[in-house]
Amino acid sequence: MAHVVADPCRGCQYTDCVVVCPMECFYGDEVQLYIDPDDCIDCGACVNECPAGAIFPDRDVPGKWAAAVELNAGRVKVLKPLGARVTEKRPAG
Ligand code: SF4
Ligand code: SF4
Repeated sequence: MAHVVADPCRGCQYTDCVVVCPMECFYGDEVQLYIDPDDCIDCGACVNECPAGAIFPDRDVPGKWAAAVELNAGRVKVLKPLGARVTEKRPAG
């Protein structure tokens, strides 16, 4: 079980979510952030930090964003070797 970043994250400038994650399991590209399903311990700490309401437990992702589960896992596989881990809040804008 893991948490998943869904579509409302696209274009977010704030990255409040990454600061609270005890496992540092967020990765990012130019579109959005993704959670590493292997490292996420399902603690839920990031959920309330996200102003966009973009983070869900994988079992509760709304149907219209169901593809996010596979997308997070797939993008992390690509981004992890590239060192695209995001652990610090980015400056807004
Ligand atoms: S705070 Fe939410 S919308 Fe912003 S980067 Fe994190 S998951 Fe994405
Ligand atoms: S649920 Fe916990 S471990 Fe998983 S991404 Fe969120 S803060 Fe990190």
